Amino acid sequence: MNPETRKQRILIVDDAPENIKMLAHVLKPNYSVSFAVNGENALKIAASEPPPDLILLDIIMPGIDGYEVCRRLKSDRRTQNIPVIFITSMNEEADETKGLELGAVDYITKPFSMAIVRARVKTHLELKIHRDMLEHLSSLDGLTGIPNRRRFDEYFDAEWRIAVRESSLLSLMMIDIDHFKDFNDEYQHLAGDDCLRRVAKNLAASVRRPGDFVARYGGEEFVAVLPRTDAAGASAVGESMRNNIESLNILHSVSPIRNCVTISVGTATLSPSLNISGDMLIKGADDALYQAKKEGRNRVKSLNLDIFNAN
Ligand code: GH3
Ligand code: MG
Ligand code: MG
Repeated sequence: MNPETRKQRILIVDDAPENIKMLAHVLKPNYSVSFAVNGENALKIAASEPPPDLILLDIIMPGIDGYEVCRRLKSDRRTQNIPVIFITSMNEEADETKGLELGAVDYITKPFSMAIVRARVKTHLELKIHRDMLEHLSSLDGLTGIPNRRRFDEYFDAEWRIAVRESSLLSLMMIDIDHFKDFNDEYQHLAGDDCLRRVAKNLAASVRRPGDFVARYGGEEFVAVLPRTDAAGASAVGESMRNNIESLNILHSVSPIRNCVTISVGTATLSPSLNISGDMLIKGADDALYQAKKEGRNRVKSLNLDIFNAN
């Protein structure tokens, strides 16, 4: 959802219910508020979807204390970007320094003024909106608007880990526009850019499962990640992409293949494990793409690297 329009979420962590009540009372009108009365629960809520936008964290609590909660939040990829404000009765300079050094954005001492809590929360949540927007923009390709290479690296890495954990198959596709240099030479660079936009949009719309992901890999090359998909499935998605691009019927009069823009697709599939690297799957898809080019372009080549079910 657009970070500017949804209600932002605050997680209040305090072992004293009366503190939670007081804070919730002032924050509820403007934000969506949830709470935890101990550190363990706080960590669980922080790592669940959708994550909070801000955490108000007490320090002295039975079980793991606020410092430790903060330390764990900051060392977990899923929660490290959630801003933390300590709200505590520990008012020594050393306490505050320790909290800030652990990565908290602010430190409020009890007894607190409601007006100050409200003002500081507002400031940090506004900053969070800007950070989220920057993060979102920096993951998109400027020309086509679909995810960029940087986002692909993150996504692929995350799906690789999930597939290792689940012992599931992971498929990767490399997609490259055929004779695109000739297209640019014939119709000029701006028309080339326009073609890239249309192809990107069409490829992104060609995948349907929730985990499927398409990105611009660079130049006129695209990449798709298909979690829990076998070689036959990846090949079928590739064929439907190939067909969809052909159906766009973008005039390419100097192409030796057809008089419209076409793509070549290479797919590779394997079951990720701890002792192999993701590069192997990328290289596999690259090799398959090379094969598709060599055999005449406008086609899909699939490579099954799943050693237990190789065909
Ligand atoms: P092949 O069928 O073997 O893939 O041939 P090709 O001409 O598509 O491949 P090659 O790698 O030789 O050329 C890719 C061309 O893609 C070079 C460049 O003109 C074009 N290209 C890459 N990025 C962009 C871009 O952002 N905009 C435009 N307009 N063209 C781009
Ligand atoms: Mg090309
Ligand atoms: Mg290329």
